[in-house]
Amino acid sequence: MPDLPLDSVLAAVSAASRVAGRAAAERNSLADLLKDDRSPVTVADLAVQVAVTAAMRSAGVPHSDRLVGEEGSDSLDAGGNEMLSQIIRLTGEALVDADLPSAAPTTEAEVRELLDAGGLDPASEGREVFWSLDPIDGTKGFLRGQQFALALGLVEGDAPTVGFLGCPHLPLRAVEDYGAADATGSTYVGVVGEGAWAGSTDATTMSSLEPITVSSSPPGGRVRVCLSYEKAHGDQDRTSAALEATGVSTTPIRIDSQCKYAMVASGRADLYLRLAREGYREKSWDHAGGCAVVRAAGGVVESATGEPLRIDGRWVDAPGGIVVRTPSVEVPAH
Ligand code: AMP
Ligand code: MG
Repeated sequence: MPDLPLDSVLAAVSAASRVAGRAAAERNSLADLLKDDRSPVTVADLAVQVAVTAAMRSAGVPHSDRLVGEEGSDSLDAGGNEMLSQIIRLTGEALVDADLPSAAPTTEAEVRELLDAGGLDPASEGREVFWSLDPIDGTKGFLRGQQFALALGLVEGDAPTVGFLGCPHLPLRAVEDYGAADATGSTYVGVVGEGAWAGSTDATTMSSLEPITVSSSPPGGRVRVCLSYEKAHGDQDRTSAALEATGVSTTPIRIDSQCKYAMVASGRADLYLRLAREGYREKSWDHAGGCAVVRAAGGVVESATGEPLRIDGRWVDAPGGIVVRTPSVEVPAH
């Protein structure tokens, strides 16, 4: 693991995820549009990517020039001036919060440059070390006022080694209804081989977080499982078969985004199954941060065929789908 200033990265993630939380509260007045692949993108996705990138750069975080980000400036072309001015306002707020006001972009050219800094293609530009960022993972949950996450992972070779998840709507303690928005969110950090921690979204120092671990075994032998809220993001028949083979009898907790990784890492779920439909290729920013947090908390992140999940530049290598679990729960081949 490189010598990382974890407090600086945490401060960048916290400031940007607080802005994401604020943007969620005003989401009905923010510009949004559909990307070419028909997935939604909002001002918040772009503002958060700009804010994290600018804050990491300004704090001198190692490898912040090697970034694989989900968003790019092409979304700005379709969004126009309204989108641009909202991005500049939200980003400015985030960077003032992070005590980095001078890092805030004020012109279109600066915003574009920051967005396009996430266009690294490790496959053609060397893959040794890079950051993989999803500024708002679970945009559909964000738009519903439910769960979403800012996810950032450091990838070394093909392994995520450090992860950050900012979850503005996910409370730190157990509640009944994880679909509901909650103003007091939480942030998770994992350093593989050293441990995982969680705290409030206001946390800017590692010492203010508390250690977390995956569950030692499912309470009462009843496996608690997380699944995507969006049923189209998984093969429902294979998922049902795998749950039956594992002996899961509880009602699945359906929530958007890498909040599911946070649930397993903090011992509130024992299993997260993501058996995608035939032909879907998982993206690195949807898994790098969450994978590092779960592994650091003592969990297992593997393919449906039992191989460790590997990151392949902008993509994920996990044949058959992704299984995230506490070690005591095994998912038989199905
Ligand atoms: P989740 O809320 O866990 O389902 O994850 C949200 C992520 O699912 C988004 O960031 C998308 O990149 C990804 N996604 C979009 N379409 C699909 C699909 N058909 N199958 C699996 N994942 C998808
Ligand atoms: Mg995503």
